[in-house]
Amino acid sequence: MDIQVETDVALIGAGPIGLEMAVALKKETFAYSHIEAGCLGATVDWYAPGTHFFSSPERIAIAGVPLCNVDQTKATREQYLTYLRSVALQHQLIVRTHERVVEAKRSDNGDFMLSTIKSTHGVGGPSEQSYLPDPEATKKSYKAKKVILSIGDMHIPRLLGVPGEGLAHVSHYLQDPHRYYGSKVLIVGGKNSAVEAAIRLYRAGAQVTLCYRQKELDKERIKYWLYPEIQFLMKKGVIEFRPESVVTKILERTVEMKSAQNGGKTVAHTFDSVLLLTGYEQDGSLFDQLGVKLHGAEKKPEFNEQTMETNVSGVYVAGTAVAGTQLRGVKEFIETSHVHVERILASLKGEQPPEGGSGAAGDFLEN
Ligand SMILES: Cc1cc2nc3c(=O)[nH]c(=O)nc-3n(C[C@H](O)[C@H](O)[C@H](O)COP(=O)(O)OP(=O)(O)OC[C@H]3O[C@@H](n4cnc5c(N)ncnc54)[C@H](O)[C@@H]3O)c2cc1C
Repeated sequence: MDIQVETDVALIGAGPIGLEMAVALKKETFAYSHIEAGCLGATVDWYAPGTHFFSSPERIAIAGVPLCNVDQTKATREQYLTYLRSVALQHQLIVRTHERVVEAKRSDNGDFMLSTIKSTHGVGGPSEQSYLPDPEATKKSYKAKKVILSIGDMHIPRLLGVPGEGLAHVSHYLQDPHRYYGSKVLIVGGKNSAVEAAIRLYRAGAQVTLCYRQKELDKERIKYWLYPEIQFLMKKGVIEFRPESVVTKILERTVEMKSAQNGGKTVAHTFDSVLLLTGYEQDGSLFDQLGVKLHGAEKKPEFNEQTMETNVSGVYVAGTAVAGTQLRGVKEFIETSHVHVERILASLKGEQPPEGGSGAAGDFLEN
């Protein structure tokens, strides 16, 4: 393979933590290449317009750059993406955007060889499938002494595994609420994403039904400002709640559901759109290719907590990528990940890992 880029550190992923890592590498004058499959902050980019973070601004600020907004409330998707661009500009970061790493392996002399292809989107999101017609023609190769995987953990929607899940009117991603005006929408799920979508789509003029497999919504797992609101709207009857219900089949016009309300019988209801907001999984293929061991149902990568180095010497993991797929409640967020940057930097410099670090304990809630 012809090597097109040779570098000391290949940093993969330009979400908030990848960018924070890039600033740290640049400050310490490491030779590094930063590769991102989509745009800066590609995961945040696919949130629906106007989505608010639940983390306070100071917890998601990176690289010591304050995140200020006009009304001192939680940042929106748009404010945060603007902020990420400002951080990149301020630190003159070079990010090779729209290049996806598709192959990663260690060569006999110990260097890491990476191949990328041009990609129009990040890894994850509603446009994930749209590759270019001839990806091979866009292939690029990299050689690096170390690799940092800050690739996130929300790459693939968690599928229900029912017939019809791939139909055009079915999505695993909330898009602009405006698009749902005047339509009948079924939302499947019972955590933050589903509850937030239900409230927003109702306000955008959709007729909303929320289908959840549990008996009731779990107050502990829903943002504290959303829970009373959804309860109020369901009680008022403007959002229909179908507890203890599971979707069994999706057709062009109808959705078949089994529900305790119907004594466990399958009943078909008519909907224009179906939103399956049941969570996301990590694509661990780069870990596999590099020989990083993955553990448990979460497929959590093996790494040293002090240095963030995986079981493969020279391969590090940062950000929410450390979690694998977050199955038993979300515990890894931006705010828990800042410390990864300090640990990796210390390890690359051959220094003692920092004590404690700046990872703040937060009020964690799932999406
Ligand atoms: C609606 C919603 C609201 C949320 N609110 C919050 C919140 O309030 N607080 C919070 O902390 N978190 C929140 N999250 C989760 C948040 O998105 C993640 O915590 C955050 O993005 C993690 O940052 P990261 O840098 O670790 O990973 P990511 O932001 O996921 O970045 C990983 C990057 O790696 C790229 N990548 C992956 N694989 C490759 C590859 N093979 N080649 C090249 N590039 C690759 C991806 O395109 C992506 O840009 C929310 C999520 C959703 C969906």
